[in-house]
Amino acid sequence: MTPTDTTAGSGVYEVPEELRDFRDLVRRLAQEQIAPRAAEIDEKGEYPWDVRELLASHDILGLPFPSEYGGTGTGTLMQQIAVEEIAKACASSALILMVQELGTLPIQLFGSDELKERLLPKCASGEWSPAFALSEPEAGSDPAAMRTTAVEDGDEWVLNGSKNWITNSTIADFYVVFAVTDRENRRITAFVVEKDRPGFSIANLEHKLGIKGSPTGSPVFEDVRVPESNVIGEVGRGLSVALGTLERTRLGAAAQAVGIAQGATDYAVQYAKERVAFGKPIIDLQGIQFKLADMATRTAAARELLYTACAKIDRGDPDKAQYSSMAKLFASDTAMDVTVEGVQVLGGYGYVKEYPLERMMRDAKITQIYEGTNEIQRVVIARSLSR
Ligand SMILES: Cc1cc2nc3c(=O)[nH]c(=O)nc-3n(C[C@H](O)[C@H](O)[C@H](O)COP(=O)(O)OP(=O)(O)OC[C@H]3O[C@@H](n4cnc5c(N)ncnc54)[C@H](O)[C@@H]3O)c2cc1C
Repeated sequence: MTPTDTTAGSGVYEVPEELRDFRDLVRRLAQEQIAPRAAEIDEKGEYPWDVRELLASHDILGLPFPSEYGGTGTGTLMQQIAVEEIAKACASSALILMVQELGTLPIQLFGSDELKERLLPKCASGEWSPAFALSEPEAGSDPAAMRTTAVEDGDEWVLNGSKNWITNSTIADFYVVFAVTDRENRRITAFVVEKDRPGFSIANLEHKLGIKGSPTGSPVFEDVRVPESNVIGEVGRGLSVALGTLERTRLGAAAQAVGIAQGATDYAVQYAKERVAFGKPIIDLQGIQFKLADMATRTAAARELLYTACAKIDRGDPDKAQYSSMAKLFASDTAMDVTVEGVQVLGGYGYVKEYPLERMMRDAKITQIYEGTNEIQRVVIARSLSR
């Protein structure tokens, strides 16, 4: 995307030819190779390694990275367009790309050159996957309440504690872990913890409502030692690392939501053309037409807000955090409402697993919860307004 002036009214996005080509490639791969797998991924609840390989082999896992680290260097909009296209087919698969960004952005934004060189190229190629471990059993919306600690011992840090709800648990090659390093002043620091460090384990994996192909688990740290060089950014500034990352990556949840909503709308429209009731296709019934019109309108509006927020992030506009939160809030609420309506358009067929709408509805719910709940997004937006 050329980050042109998004305040200028019409014609605000100019997606250049090469990005449109990339979008078409992702769309084709998603529709031809990922969509046919989506029901099975959901049913079996298994991480789709084949999809990850597919994404890696077409440079799609390089989207979150600058070219100097082997990435595509194509910016935030292209990343989120790809998430959207994949989520349209399979929300679990979209998470592979989302977490590739979430688990490496702290290093990209705040890490040392040595850390960047050590970790980013292997992630850009898709050989490695990361995880982002902020949430804890007693600390989700309020990360400052976390209990995991890291204590300095010579030129090493020793981590103890446990995290909760961590996407890519058991899959990730390394975890970006946030731990309290100054109990008195509640100072937090971010660390890289490789999966093979002694004392590191995954306690359990969750059984979830949706995104079942993405493992969510609880990493545990029992006297896990990492070298000084694994610290991300400044000691004591970990909360800034976390919030600076989430400010951008919540656009991934927004893009996933737009993709789910578009997938649900497309399917419902097609279904309504074919399903006959009272002697004619149900798409001829005004009650159904109005539902479809609202679904399409809300999805389009969510996409516009998402793309505006992407442009603001790429340009570094002062209101980028507010727009990022607004896009996440609006897109995820849209995905939830649109998929519920989509189920209704399909009637009984919307409620059974032979049709994709019930999966889309279950997958949509998480977009209102992770990357900061929608209540927290409202807090962020309101705070920006009252500044
Ligand atoms: C499938 C899944 C994947 C996840 N992946 C990751 C991951 O990879 N890494 C990671 O670190 N975390 C991850 N999370 C955690 C997720 O970010 C948290 O669940 C989320 O931030 C909410 O925290 P919580 O569950 O502790 O809810 P709580 O913080 O306990 O919130 C409970 C309710 O209270 C509301 N609430 C809390 N504070 C306020 C407030 N100030 N004003 C108004 N309402 C408020 C919340 O919105 C919510 O409705 C994941 C969660 C799930 C379910």
